Amino acid sequence: MKIRDLFINKPVISLEIFPPKPETPIDTIFDTIDALSDLKPDFISVTYGAAGGSKHYTVQIADIIKNKYGIEALAHLTCINSTKKEVEDILQQLKKSNIENVLALRGDRPQDESYIAPEDNDYKYASDLIAHIKSLGDFCIGAACYPEVHIEAESCIADLRSLKRKVELGADFLITQLFLDNNFYFDFIEKIGIMDISIPVSVGIMPVINKKQIERITSLCGASIPTKFRRILDRYENNPEALKEAGIAYATEQIIDLLSSGVDGIHLYTMNKPEVARKIIKQISSIRSHFENLNHA
Ligand code: FAD
Repeated sequence: MKIRDLFINKPVISLEIFPPKPETPIDTIFDTIDALSDLKPDFISVTYGAAGGSKHYTVQIADIIKNKYGIEALAHLTCINSTKKEVEDILQQLKKSNIENVLALRGDRPQDESYIAPEDNDYKYASDLIAHIKSLGDFCIGAACYPEVHIEAESCIADLRSLKRKVELGADFLITQLFLDNNFYFDFIEKIGIMDISIPVSVGIMPVINKKQIERITSLCGASIPTKFRRILDRYENNPEALKEAGIAYATEQIIDLLSSGVDGIHLYTMNKPEVARKIIKQISSIRSHFENLNHA
């Protein structure tokens, strides 16, 4: 099934996992998928390591999600270091596994300061990848979007124009980068409305349970840490259980606010921690039922 069709019954609740490192056996992820499948997500997405790393398992794991668990799978695919031939091979494998959904991304530039992107790259931006995927068959294509503006973008308007281009070239739905202040999302929805972007937007939510990790992620992706959340990090940084509890409560509060405001979807970055995802999904079980009842009325 194509994920764009899932948005007919919104909100769509999805989960994201990342594959094990190449030197680790693939079966180390099986318990995670097993536990997450219990939460009855609408789809599960599997990340893809742009700079090598964890890209080898992405298709295999998406195949297990789709064909063993019967849950819709979304395979991430980056293009910054890929050739057209590599992309076509992966799309072929996805087709063979009956996977119809791809999250088309540029990928992050390697952190190495001496890195210079090769001149003859087959792709420069995610929009190039989207156009290529679109030309190759009937995939449902997701793309990334940035309520706080992409860290490399020249300006907010330049970033919105790039987003519009991704939509015009074939993106069917969007997933946001994480944010810790919902006001960024509400402003973003207004702005994309002005740009006439009307495809569904699922909101990426990251439950924060580790101070160093969120500081590293936000410094890389440019998301801000609001004062309210900074207080939580500073107060409980040396008490993992307290930080976990507060992080789960904070993410849950964000989600409830977003669901109440009519969001198209919630995409939980699980960080391969099913117990955290379980607590959050449990907290919103009555709200999920509320929407299910509305959809079936
Ligand atoms: P693009 O849409 O190409 O944008 C990149 C930058 O270029 C932006 O600043 C944009 O404004 C600018 N730009 C775009 N087009 C043009 C143009 N024509 N002219 C000038 N400027 C332009 N990374 C991974 O490596 N693996 C993953 O699995 C992964 N999953 C992700 C999932 C989600 C939901 C999100 C939000 C991000 C994910 N990322 C992943 C990170 C992502 O690869 C990075 O954020 C990356 O820096 C940008 O990717 P993009 O697809 O948004 O790029």
